[in-house]
Amino acid sequence: MTNPIDISLAQQAASLFAEAHRVVVLTHVGPDGDAMGSALAMYHHLSSAERQVTVIVPNEFPAFLGWLPAADKVLVYEKNAEACNAAIANADLFVCTDFNDPKRIHAAGEKMMENKAPKVLIDHHLNPVDFANVMFSDPQASSACEIVYRLLSAIGPIQSHDVAVCLYTGLMTDTGNFSFNSNNPDLYEIVAHLLRLGVNKDAVYNAVFNQYSSDRMRLTGFALYRKMRIFPEYHLALITLSADELDQYHYKAGDTEGLVNMPLQIADVYYSVYMREERPKPGTPRPRIRISFRSQGDRPVNIWASEVFHGGGHMNASGGEMFGTINQAVQLFEQSYPKYVKKD
Ligand code: 5GP
Ligand code: MN
Repeated sequence: MTNPIDISLAQQAASLFAEAHRVVVLTHVGPDGDAMGSALAMYHHLSSAERQVTVIVPNEFPAFLGWLPAADKVLVYEKNAEACNAAIANADLFVCTDFNDPKRIHAAGEKMMENKAPKVLIDHHLNPVDFANVMFSDPQASSACEIVYRLLSAIGPIQSHDVAVCLYTGLMTDTGNFSFNSNNPDLYEIVAHLLRLGVNKDAVYNAVFNQYSSDRMRLTGFALYRKMRIFPEYHLALITLSADELDQYHYKAGDTEGLVNMPLQIADVYYSVYMREERPKPGTPRPRIRISFRSQGDRPVNIWASEVFHGGGHMNASGGEMFGTINQAVQLFEQSYPKYVKKD
């Protein structure tokens, strides 16, 4: 169950919002629907004639989120560091959504911490780092968008259609279209309110989930057919995709979003791991391997992600990384899974 918003904290946040003139909204690397939805909802809520709001994401967001209202105004740090640094240096308020540690937003986080302006954090990840002046952190919440909804509603009734569309998108994507983390009946009261504000949920679903490229579809097919290994004794599946394989299918940001969840559709598979190799960036000799972990029920994967792959996350959804070849990552996986995966 989600915790109620602390009214006195909401008032503090509201005062910070009211006093600010140059707000920077930041969200996590590899922006997903909840990251973009929560950041853009704050953008629409805060933008006014007296207040300039800039949304910054560390790296590119998927094309299937490009239709979100004002997505075209979002600055991508990797592509436009100069403009992002200027906005961050000039900000008189930061709003951080859907991440729990400045390190999770890379260079943008370092720049943000150099600016002493107040920071408001709105997040649902475990164990947030204590860097914000006002913090709304609730790991029980389905999504950062759910907390944004509760916060904005505590400040005053939400009336904006744009805010509603952004929030609905995050609720929908972070719950896998209401198929996990979504048993809280209150969630459906939020959804009902957002629909009354004019959100067309069928259109949002269509815009996010039915706009794949043929390359993306074929990459998914290739990954499942050729690249998925199953370890039946451990109820575990592993998918790996090398940079060369991704190139063959003209991989773009977001093209393997959700892939890690698919092996969990197999009966008796309760753990799924997906490794994606990124080409080394100039100045970094070794490729980076991004690793996603998913599990079902009382089978934590965050300890595995944190102890072996420098990451962390939720009990059933975690991530990590390593620098090296994909074969080295697989080796590490093979050495470690008997320790972290339950056989029954
Ligand atoms: P994904 O597999 O979608 O990239 O990440 C799943 C979840 O794992 C995220 O929501 C986030 O909570 C967590 N996560 C992913 N990567 C990292 C990481 O490098 N460090 C930490 N602490 N958490 C991560
Ligand atoms: Mn989220």
